Amino acid sequence: MHVIGTAGHVDHGKSTLVEALTGIDPDRLKEEKEREMTIDLGFAWIRNDDSDDEIGVVDVPGHRDFIENMLAGVGGIDLALLVIAADEGVMPQTREHLAILDLLEIRGGIIALTKIDLVDDPDWLELVQLDIVENLQNTVLEDAQIIPVSAITGENIDTLLATIRHQLSQIKEKPDSGRPRLPIDRIFSITGFGTIVTGTLSDGYLNLGDQVEIQPSGLRGRIRGLQTHKTKIETARPGSRVAVNLSGIAKKDISRGAILTFPGIVSDTVLCDVQYRHLSDSSIPLKHNAEVKLFVGSAEVVARTRLIGQKQLKPGQSGWLQLALREPVAVFRGDRFILRRPSPPATLGGGVILDPHPGRRHKRFSPQVGQKFKTLETGTPEEILLLTLQRNEPLSIKHLFENSGLDSETAEKAWQTLQTNEEVTFVNETIYSRDGWLSLVEKLKSLVTSYHTDNPLRIGISREELRSRLNITSSLFNNLLEEVKKSGDIALTDNMVHFPDHKILFTEQQQRNVKKMTRLFLNEGVNSPSVKDTKVMISDDVYYAMIDLKDLIQLNQEVVYLADTYSSLVNQIISYINDHGSVNAGQTRDILQTSRKYAIALLEYMDQSRITERKEDDRVLRTLTS
Ligand code: GDP
Repeated sequence: MHVIGTAGHVDHGKSTLVEALTGIDPDRLKEEKEREMTIDLGFAWIRNDDSDDEIGVVDVPGHRDFIENMLAGVGGIDLALLVIAADEGVMPQTREHLAILDLLEIRGGIIALTKIDLVDDPDWLELVQLDIVENLQNTVLEDAQIIPVSAITGENIDTLLATIRHQLSQIKEKPDSGRPRLPIDRIFSITGFGTIVTGTLSDGYLNLGDQVEIQPSGLRGRIRGLQTHKTKIETARPGSRVAVNLSGIAKKDISRGAILTFPGIVSDTVLCDVQYRHLSDSSIPLKHNAEVKLFVGSAEVVARTRLIGQKQLKPGQSGWLQLALREPVAVFRGDRFILRRPSPPATLGGGVILDPHPGRRHKRFSPQVGQKFKTLETGTPEEILLLTLQRNEPLSIKHLFENSGLDSETAEKAWQTLQTNEEVTFVNETIYSRDGWLSLVEKLKSLVTSYHTDNPLRIGISREELRSRLNITSSLFNNLLEEVKKSGDIALTDNMVHFPDHKILFTEQQQRNVKKMTRLFLNEGVNSPSVKDTKVMISDDVYYAMIDLKDLIQLNQEVVYLADTYSSLVNQIISYINDHGSVNAGQTRDILQTSRKYAIALLEYMDQSRITERKEDDRVLRTLTS
């Protein structure tokens, strides 16, 4: 199914021609009838007696005051019918509409040179045609056929119809990517039916009963009725004019410019990266931070321009922009758009959306940003997918596909290639680019290196501290650590992450202090110096290093032993329990010839270490099963 749209200067005979082609008067507003002028979009269709392949017709206003209404209807058409009155020839809005068709890259087109009944002079007709050909040069309509017609006498209307049908038969059916969207160009309600929205459907089918979502609002409803060209249907095809009767959404909650789609297909945006061409007959250059009106789909939003890599764009120049929008819109990569100056109103230029979700404001003159735009503009789907991933990794597949702006089929193919070439790494449910993953590994290693340098007396950095410095989730961190450990580049001791060959080395002075301290500990045996005194003897740093190295065992806030002394005390207690079945605090104190303080510290530490367990006042050995 196809849709064609009119274009051309006011009063050149667009609506009359549509009526001659379709038998339907497209001017639907009372005001339009009174002023004999099209103000808003009009809709009609060309019947086909042989098949159900009707052609939708969007009739747009030609008056310059209503050019913005024209923009809401012209997107999505397969073929433009540029109407030029033979008695007047090319006029200002003929040029402006032509420029818009060119910027929107509407490739199919026919020139209807109408009102030929008013021209008697063949020389004039020839002149007008020459002027038209000149104006079409270097535009999408360069090769368009010019067909002289009269809507009043009916001359050549059949030829025009046949040409329209022939050209449309050459155009491929609109693809079905399973992601239907209907840019809404009209909303009304009918008593007994409720809300109805209309638009030109693209990218997929809509069915009666489907659950749908309006974006940007996110409101959900159900399709209660479907019509195309005033005929009830059960399924609407991509490329057709569709009226959707909605249940669950009120008319007041929808406005022109929103899109109707399936839930979860698109999220709205207030920032877009775009490729832009400034019209050559624009009177002024496009400046950075200029206020403009963006027209995309049937939407119209005020935006500010961020010029990327250039100070300004002169008439005829192309470049990259980041558009910051005042209100959200729902757009897709590849959507074409127009920018207009709000006042005095004029079409400035237009282009194509490269990235609907850039995520952040770009630095204007950064080489990385330039590289990003270049890839988005000319890159392969693989490059685009990888770029999207690298900017926001890690991502789930769903988010990666969505953010890339590629259609699901292209994204899926590119994804397969990336996997085959091992350019991506799966971590749990998320994906890293190979480079992104490697740089994370490098970051981890460099954090461990700098920790060793800053803390030569610590065995390593604690897992938690490392994780928080990397600023990643626990599950990701665990996976990362596991991978790097497997490679043998780092090791773990008691939750401390370190290089396998990292050694704690004391200075000579520190070694002397340690020796002195050890002697004192050996002399005192069970009645060891306190934690506080030990720290004074060897310094806090050395103390904690010896704890890390397990040369010292600290039992509680006060009691600390040399590792050997601790083992021998534990052995004495175990052997007492083996002989007597159990031991209590008093007995421990007596066997070890010490005070209650040390006895209790030892027993409690043995409980914590799961050597013993407490049964009322006694300790027994923990059995393997207990
Ligand atoms: P639009 O503003 O481009 O939609 O123009 P209209 O279709 O409203 O036509 C403008 C005027 O031109 C109307 O008075 C029409 O009757 C008249 N008109 C349109 N087509 C023809 C034609 O082929 N021949 C003649 N003589 N008049 C025409």
